[in-house]
Amino acid sequence: MLILMRTNATDEEVNDVCRAVTAAGLKPHPIPGRLRTAIGVTGNTSSEGHERFAGLPGVTEVIPVTKPYKLTGREMKPEDTIVRVGDIEIGGDRPVMIAGPCSVESKEQTLEAACALKELGADLLRGGAYKPRTSPYAFQGLGQRGLEILIEARAQTGLPVVSEALNTETFALVEDAVDVIQIGARNMHNFELLKRAGGSQRPVLLKRSMSATLDEFLLAAEYIMSEGNPNIILCERGIRTFNTHSRFTLDLGIIPVLKQATHLPVIVDPSHAAGRRDVVIALSRAAIAAGADGLMVEVHPRPDQALSDGAQALTLDQFAQLVDELRLIIPVIRRGAGVRA
Ligand code: PEP
Ligand code: MN
Repeated sequence: MLILMRTNATDEEVNDVCRAVTAAGLKPHPIPGRLRTAIGVTGNTSSEGHERFAGLPGVTEVIPVTKPYKLTGREMKPEDTIVRVGDIEIGGDRPVMIAGPCSVESKEQTLEAACALKELGADLLRGGAYKPRTSPYAFQGLGQRGLEILIEARAQTGLPVVSEALNTETFALVEDAVDVIQIGARNMHNFELLKRAGGSQRPVLLKRSMSATLDEFLLAAEYIMSEGNPNIILCERGIRTFNTHSRFTLDLGIIPVLKQATHLPVIVDPSHAAGRRDVVIALSRAAIAAGADGLMVEVHPRPDQALSDGAQALTLDQFAQLVDELRLIIPVIRRGAGVRA
């Protein structure tokens, strides 16, 4: 349920309501808004007991939340969430561009990519240090050394870095090193990892599992948010279908539906969806047109030498072309219009 406070409610009244919620064995989640504070309540299995909160000083209304995802849904928070990473706003007016190689392979490769991407207008640098690979014989990432290289790339370029935390054991290492923690598609159902991310101060980029429904995706985000971390970026990266022409099928249809259902920013990774670089630019254009708050694309200075996902990595020239095209497209797309109900 959602407890709406009056516009003139005092901090003390908000605290008193939170205490009453806790005393009832439930969990309060204060959500400060522009006009008033709302208090999301989780842990209640039925709408019973609404009345006891409705009468408390400063409370104007108690509203049941009907969706299974509570804190991530728009019922609980109608305004968009903007995730801030340094000066960058994800979920604001301007779509963000996250770019970089699939894996951190060496200092030279990562710094070369980072410097060029910064020059070309990327907002954040991506690069995996711990890699989830289908085959145990494939390159598994440089691990801690990879994180050190990312720290160096950030120091040289000023670009904040995004990298994947693969498990709870190495989570703290990634958390200490990066600006945004990625949770990969294969880990979207790893509830212990999601809870650990919920206890972090860092924003989390949560990728949709290749088989997740919208409800499952938002419930995974709910695991993170219910542990206290409100800074979540959702990422559609393609789902498994009968198609054989691309690695996965980019589900562009979920973007406007997600934007209606949740206040969280939604970005698109066209690279893993396509699995082939020749269609990444087209899918990127379509994702922005569908209302995505940004893109995450794989770019490699020499894709033919990449240790992972080379076939889908854009060259630096192709990335420059993508940025040029988006600069033309973004101003003519009235973002938001027709996207939200
Ligand atoms: C990645 O971003 O490199 C990655 C492994 O993505 P996904 O989890 O979407 O497969
Ligand atoms: Mn990859």
